[in-house]
Amino acid sequence: MSSVTKTDVILIGAGIMSATLGTLLKELMPDWNIKVFEKLEQAGEESSNEWNNAGTGHAALCELNYTTEKPDGSIDISKAIKINEQFQVSMQFWSYLVNAKLIHNPIDFIMPLPHMSMVQGEADTAFLRKRFEALSSNPLFQGMEFSDDPAKLKEWIPLIMQNRPANEVIAATKIDTGTDVNFGALTRMLFNHLQSKGVDIHYKHSVDNIKRSGDGSWELKVRDLNSGTTENHKAKFVFIGGGGGSLHLLQKTGIPEGKHIGGFPVSGIFMVCNNPEVIEQHHAKVYGKAKVGAPPMSVPHLDTRFIDNKKSLLFGPFAGFSPRFLKTGSLFDLLTSVKPNNVLTMLAAGAKEMSLTKYLIQQVMLSKEKRMEELREFIPNAKIEDWDLVVAGQRVQVIKDTEAGGKGTLQFGTEVITAADGSIAALLGASPGASTAVHVMLEVINKCFPEQVKDWEPRIKEMIPSYGKSLMENPELLLEVHATTAETLGLSKKEPVFS
Ligand SMILES: Cc1cc2nc3c(=O)[nH]c(=O)nc-3n(C[C@H](O)[C@H](O)[C@H](O)COP(=O)(O)OP(=O)(O)OC[C@H]3O[C@@H](n4cnc5c(N)ncnc54)[C@H](O)[C@@H]3O)c2cc1C
Repeated sequence: MSSVTKTDVILIGAGIMSATLGTLLKELMPDWNIKVFEKLEQAGEESSNEWNNAGTGHAALCELNYTTEKPDGSIDISKAIKINEQFQVSMQFWSYLVNAKLIHNPIDFIMPLPHMSMVQGEADTAFLRKRFEALSSNPLFQGMEFSDDPAKLKEWIPLIMQNRPANEVIAATKIDTGTDVNFGALTRMLFNHLQSKGVDIHYKHSVDNIKRSGDGSWELKVRDLNSGTTENHKAKFVFIGGGGGSLHLLQKTGIPEGKHIGGFPVSGIFMVCNNPEVIEQHHAKVYGKAKVGAPPMSVPHLDTRFIDNKKSLLFGPFAGFSPRFLKTGSLFDLLTSVKPNNVLTMLAAGAKEMSLTKYLIQQVMLSKEKRMEELREFIPNAKIEDWDLVVAGQRVQVIKDTEAGGKGTLQFGTEVITAADGSIAALLGASPGASTAVHVMLEVINKCFPEQVKDWEPRIKEMIPSYGKSLMENPELLLEVHATTAETLGLSKKEPVFS
């Protein structure tokens, strides 16, 4: 029989979420023992990998789905404010880590890049103008510009404006404080830092089971994928940061909070430009409007990206359907996630979301030429030979019963599920995702360590000066946070200079 090792904290999965929680906890409680189990060969290989997500530092500067038009015609910006505030929390924590020399060379994970929204036609232009007016008067969105003047747009987005009919109605907003974030690089940096602080990281180790021990702690059955042997590890606190793998692990815990929850996987495909001349003509993230019937995460965007010190150009993501919960997952993931306690929830969602499923299946079947047609709405003279397809990560959207939506309602945000005693937490869902990792992991800390958090507050405030405050309501603090994070993270320079 294998022996059982004991530790304070176990993090399952080496993605951005575990990396962030581990780093926060190491700063708050340097003496705690932390162990990490990751089934792949290194950190940041699933959704957090730079090729598996869009790398947008989501601050609601360009994503049209975060601002909706109310029945009276006014624009609701409350969600945009929330996401922007959450992104400022991440920026402050990353700056703290750079200043404290715990991670280095921010240019390797974050770059300044204008964020733009672009629409076509009279009705959408009127919406964009109203949205601009609502946002630009808010201190969080200061510096945003609007234009429907073709000459100005040519200056901002020359590649998109080439070969367009003179009478085409097109409008855009632009804000220069946007970012492109390489979450894969950041995840790897954070795990290197954790390793240097004595965190015990086991790659190629799969967590196969989780059960409650008699003493209230959690016992994990962990399989070494190289040797095939199984070990048991106990911890007082477990974080399930398995990305798409989290739902299955949560179900194994048997906690009541994890019941009646299902998952719906949405896959993604990007088009990547292979022509350096085309890549050079664009310098922004340009978000369009989602097609009618399309889920919010499939809003098309044309993005300059900085990966491996190289400028790239990506378009997408095209959503699609695959029953896998992780890119490296199994074709049976969806089926095996259906349990007696969530079958009714899943069936209700299946009946409700028929049109979404149909849409996703149609998306999977799209030929490359059909995808080019969508790209040509952004780049009218895009050539098929200049673009390749790459498969992105999987997003597992949460399905649960809600008061507003009824049984089997599909959720597009993230959900932190914790046991009543705070001894285990799981993160489900994927949006706005990695950008708000610090805010979400602070939520885990608040829910799971309610007694310690009061004592930790001064230390958290050292790392995140705006902690517990609204930046929108503290314009002076906002200015200071903007200035100091931009300086520390190297975002003040107009054009990126690679080291
Ligand atoms: C197409 C796409 C575009 C996106 N665009 C953006 C964007 O522009 N901006 C943004 O902020 N976010 C974006 N996201 C979301 C973002 O990528 C995710 O929210 C984030 O990476 C999730 O991090 P994670 O640590 O939870 O999961 P992951 O990075 O997936 O990590 C989970 C890890 O757990 C491991 N694991 C799973 N099960 C087990 C097990 N049983 N045992 C051991 N290890 C296990 C996996 O191998 C994996 O390494 C996008 C996602 C997708 C798919």
